Amino acid sequence: MDGKALAARVRAEVAGEVEEIGRPVGLATVLVGDDQASAIYVRRKQEACEEVGIAPIHYELSGDTSEQELLALVAELNDDDRVTGILVQLPLPDHMDEGRVIRSIAPVKDVDGFHPASAGHLLQGEPTFVAATPAGIMEILRAYEIPLLGARAVVVGRSNIVGKPMALLLLGEHATVTVCHSRTRDLGAVVREADVVVAAVGRAGMVTSEMVKGGAAVVDVGINRVDGKVVGDVAEDVRGVAGYLTPVPGGVGPMTIASLLRNTVRAARYQSGLLAFPGA
Ligand code: NDP
Repeated sequence: MDGKALAARVRAEVAGEVEEIGRPVGLATVLVGDDQASAIYVRRKQEACEEVGIAPIHYELSGDTSEQELLALVAELNDDDRVTGILVQLPLPDHMDEGRVIRSIAPVKDVDGFHPASAGHLLQGEPTFVAATPAGIMEILRAYEIPLLGARAVVVGRSNIVGKPMALLLLGEHATVTVCHSRTRDLGAVVREADVVVAAVGRAGMVTSEMVKGGAAVVDVGINRVDGKVVGDVAEDVRGVAGYLTPVPGGVGPMTIASLLRNTVRAARYQSGLLAFPGA
């Protein structure tokens, strides 16, 4: 399943939507510290914004910035009309409370979908901003017409940003969903039941061909660096068993960024009254 090609189509669509909105759309990205991977991710997001006509508004803070200073910046961005969406790149340095920082973002600008308000909207079946990775995965599954109604889906990983929202989205499409984690007993047997597998763990090659049912659709979220190469959570030999598979790189990653752009356009719609924000 070619996430890269699909993401290019989504970006073209988003560019048209940005034009239609007819007012400036801006995404503020905040990078704290000098984590190499984070810097690369943020740069890709800025480039994608530029491509579709969203203004990238970037802030770089040193690793010894205090949490108070970061919270003050977020408060400023919350009130800034040029800023349609706010993204604080995670992970934050250890001396900061990520939860507190995320909660300080105005829910109507929470384009990452990590604020408890966004998570709650998804849980209650009235999604506003869905976390970009699982949102992008749903779009991949839709594009490849993977049947979900009544299907057995297994999500490996239960993080707030991937595993849990992924499970809720699959449930919303009427799949029968199982969520696995580090304490799951006999992971192989559970995964083998699945028509759709989403691997979001962060361990290279942990889903092997013996764990996958023939013909299953396998989504590889993992990003692992092994001997200078980026590989996913799904072992190479799964290609011979799965019916559908997302490559790493070129699968979930590009669609994550595309979904962030979609969320930013959604934020613009809320803020210009084209869409009603729940509770607002
Ligand atoms: P987390 O570390 O937050 O979560 C990992 C999950 O995997 C946890 O729920 C953990 O279980 C579970 N786990 C760990 N070991 C095992 C095991 N042996 N068997 C079963 N489950 C296990 O990671 P994220 O959700 O943030 O990210 C997961 C991966 O996806 C990473 O490689 C990350 O880099 C990548 N990623 C890729 C993105 C993209 O755009 N392509 C975006 C976001 C993430 P427990 O809860 O019990 O600890």
